[in-house]
Amino acid sequence: MRVAFRPALRRVTGTQLTRAACIGNFPARMSTAAAAQTVSSPANPASDELLDSERRQRSRQILQNAVAATAPRHDWTREEISAIFYQPLMELAYQAATVHRRFHNPSEVQLCTLMNIKTGGCTEDCSYCAQSTRYQKGTGLEAKRVETVESVLEAARIAKENGSTRFCMGAAWRDMRGRKNSLRNIKDMVAGVRAMGMESCVTLGMIDAEQAKELKEAGLTAYNHNVDTSREFYPSVISTRSYDERLKTLGHVRDAGINVCSGGILGLGETSEDRVGLLHTVSTLPSHPESFPVNALVPIKGTPLGDRPPIEFTSMLRTIAAARIIMPATIIRIAAGRKTMAEDQQAMCFMAGANAIFTGEKMLTTECNGWDEDAAMFGRWGLQPMKSFRKLGLRAGDVAAGQV
Ligand code: SF4
Repeated sequence: MRVAFRPALRRVTGTQLTRAACIGNFPARMSTAAAAQTVSSPANPASDELLDSERRQRSRQILQNAVAATAPRHDWTREEISAIFYQPLMELAYQAATVHRRFHNPSEVQLCTLMNIKTGGCTEDCSYCAQSTRYQKGTGLEAKRVETVESVLEAARIAKENGSTRFCMGAAWRDMRGRKNSLRNIKDMVAGVRAMGMESCVTLGMIDAEQAKELKEAGLTAYNHNVDTSREFYPSVISTRSYDERLKTLGHVRDAGINVCSGGILGLGETSEDRVGLLHTVSTLPSHPESFPVNALVPIKGTPLGDRPPIEFTSMLRTIAAARIIMPATIIRIAAGRKTMAEDQQAMCFMAGANAIFTGEKMLTTECNGWDEDAAMFGRWGLQPMKSFRKLGLRAGDVAAGQV
């Protein structure tokens, strides 16, 4: 296949060219018509061969440099990310495992529990989400009031007893404007979770600088706000809040000294190029997210993406492995959709750099692998739960300074 399609690589867009050049694969967005033209296009096989060989050499060099790095870098070009992302998968996973062992203890995986502290009634239109009011007719999900501080802390206590070291609280809100009482309660929840010795994380939609400061003062460890996908594909998924608004919230979080948790969802209908775009966005932030959740879409009937086919496992693995190489110190979390992954697939992800999972009774509105199931899996694979605060505060230079 590669030989037959090679001449056409000069006709496609720059991004496609870069991607194809990296490994000589077929660009995801290239049409069948374009491919057909390609086969019959005249070419000079010798010079094509040379170009291909130069590109492969360059992409190998980019990978080697990335794997040899002793500290995270923030100046990735999209082309460099493509060169890494499109490596042959086995090679990519192997190199990611090498980086993982240098920056992390490969036998440790963090257990996190995510509780929905305010279900449904959200005014946003995220096409994958059961909690949007726009899809309520189809999903039948009823909005609930905010959970009490006591009930949340009780859930956190149970999570801790079962081995979770990070407790995340999610509220289905667009933003925190006019929610002074709720913010006060959430700060109590955060403080209560921290008092148990756990990391605390919240996801409350958009927040401003002042709200971020208040949450920091309450002891918040991390704030989750996913960018979801690439800047280009994002408008196909959400129309009620822009990509830049998401990045602005991440800026407030970072400026307040709270760790940023921001990741993506695979299986929304995006292409591989969009996954490269997602990785480019998060890896070129002023500092890498402390946490990068990788979700596999769980299609929910009644939402616009309710009929999407499942994402291939290889796409999950490729994204995790590339993320590990590009953001070596970040905690990579297998988030929604883990329930659909076989145990050996999960193990492959742990090998290639994933080092956190969500566990417990439920993950927001989707099914979640339970604590007992995960404990049994850890036993079979020789994994152990990561302690709280193990990786926090890791910044560029820490690895070189021997702090990991
Ligand atoms: S993903 Fe969050 S912001 Fe989007 S609709 Fe669901 S609850 Fe609202």
